[in-house]
Amino acid sequence: MIHIQGVTKSYGQGNLKTDVLKDIHLTVSEGEYVAIMGPSGSGKSTLMNILGALDRPTQGTYQFQGRDLSQMEAIELARVRNQSIGFIFQQFQLLSRLTAQKNVELPLIYAGIRGLKRKEMATTALNRVGLADRRDHLPSELSGGQQQRVAIARALVNQPDLLLADEPTGALDQASGDNVLDLFDGLHQEGKTIVMITHDSEVAARANRRIDILDGRIKETSQAGGSV
Ligand code: ADP
Ligand code: ADP
Repeated sequence: MIHIQGVTKSYGQGNLKTDVLKDIHLTVSEGEYVAIMGPSGSGKSTLMNILGALDRPTQGTYQFQGRDLSQMEAIELARVRNQSIGFIFQQFQLLSRLTAQKNVELPLIYAGIRGLKRKEMATTALNRVGLADRRDHLPSELSGGQQQRVAIARALVNQPDLLLADEPTGALDQASGDNVLDLFDGLHQEGKTIVMITHDSEVAARANRRIDILDGRIKETSQAGGSV
C-alpha cells in the first residue's frame, strides 16, 4: 500500500537548508498496524504529512496504492486524501458548533453524499465507536475519550483504506487512551491499515510493527509485542 524510497524532506535554502527527513525507505502492506515512534523534533509529523498526502517530499518517491504521489498536483493529492485516508489527531479537531453526528457527516458532505445515505453512513460509523446515543451532543458535552471516538468515526465514515493517527491518545487519560487503542485493535482485526505516530513506547507496543525515527532517519524496524 505504501512504498517510500529515498525520501528526503528539506526546509530552507543554501546555508540554511536543513534536512528534516533523510533518505527514508519504508514499505507498509495492506492490513498492517504500524507505530512510528520518536522523540519531539525527530521528523514524525513531517513523515506523517507526506504519508497523508498533505505534503510532498523534496527528493525520492512515495507510491500509495501504486500511484506516485511525489509529483502529484495539490488538487489531485486532495482527492487521494479525501477518498483513501482517514486522519485522527491528538486534539480531535472537531468543529465545536456541530453535533457529533454532523462532525462525522463532514467528510461525506465533501464527497457529495447527500440526505438519508449520509445520515445512515454517519450513524453506522458512530455505532462502530459505541457513541450512537451521543449523536446529538456537541463536543463540549462529551468527555475527551468520547470526542476522540467521534473523531475516529469521522475518520472511518468514508471507509478509507488507510488510517493515520497522530498521537491519538496524547490528550487522554489512561482509561480513555486504552479505549481508543482497543478500538484500533478491532479495526486492525477487521483488516484496516493503521499508521500511528507516538512518542510513547507503551502505545507503540500496541501496534504490530514499530519503526523508530531519530533525527530524520529511520533507525530500526522491529516487531513490537502485539499479536498479528
Ligand atoms: P516531530 O513531529 O517528531 O516533533 P517534526 O516533523 O515536527 O518532528 O519536525 C522535525 C524538524 O523539522 C524539527 O527540527 C522542526 O523544527 C523542523 N521543521 C518542521 N517543519 C518545518 C518547517 N515548515 N520549516 C522549517 N523547519 C521545520
Ligand atoms: P471516557 O472514558 O469516554 O473518556 P469519561 O470517563 O471521561 O468518559 O466520562 C464519563 C462521563 O462523563 C461521560 O459519559 C461523559 O458524558 C461525561 N463527561 C465527561 N466530561 C464531560 C464534559 N466536559 N462535559 C459534559 N459531560 C462530560
